[in-house]
Amino acid sequence: MSWASRAAANILPLSREKNDLAVALHEWRYTGDYNDLEAPIETCKLCDHLDIRYQFEIQNLHTAETLLVGSECINRFNIAATDEEGRTLDADGTRRKLAKDRRKLVDDARRRRLVKALVALAHVDKEFPIHSFIDYLHKRDAFTPRQVTTLLWRFDTSGIDHNPRDFKITIKRGREKAQLEEMSDWQLKRLLPCLSPSQRAYLEREGLYLASHSST
Ligand SMILES: [Zn+2]
Repeated sequence: MSWASRAAANILPLSREKNDLAVALHEWRYTGDYNDLEAPIETCKLCDHLDIRYQFEIQNLHTAETLLVGSECINRFNIAATDEEGRTLDADGTRRKLAKDRRKLVDDARRRRLVKALVALAHVDKEFPIHSFIDYLHKRDAFTPRQVTTLLWRFDTSGIDHNPRDFKITIKRGREKAQLEEMSDWQLKRLLPCLSPSQRAYLEREGLYLASHSST
């Protein structure tokens, strides 16, 4: 079965229009509700695509039926989104809203993984001041370079599973920049996976760390 015929089989019974897929699709809106299943375990209820992790809700304006679908399907079938006031967005606006919602889902998942790792660390490392780290995370959504160095070291010595890419480092303030300047090459090397491309460029520009030296 083709993609369009799978979508037609799924959506026509729930729409007012019972024959023409293109007409039926116009009856549907992306509601702005979404969901992270934390693993790719669902199918897209519109095209039957497998391995959906992030679900986005679409709703029919006439029948009020809803379907949970993948974000690609919303773009592919040109299903319009609505804004907070219920107004229908144009194609560009829909694409932007969807991309923003998707980024938020991915970022929330990143933060949850990080908190989970911090809690796991506090269980085995009784000296670990978890509350100050969680407070810092809530306030700035990032850690200082020195905090991340400490965390990576504690995670490693306690054998806690973690992903360095889940960390965000802030180097906006003078003292955070000063922390980087005080670090040795190997410490900076460990921080690299946590840095954004522009932060890595900053290190290079300041002569603090040269990627070409990273293999030595
Ligand atoms: Zn789909």
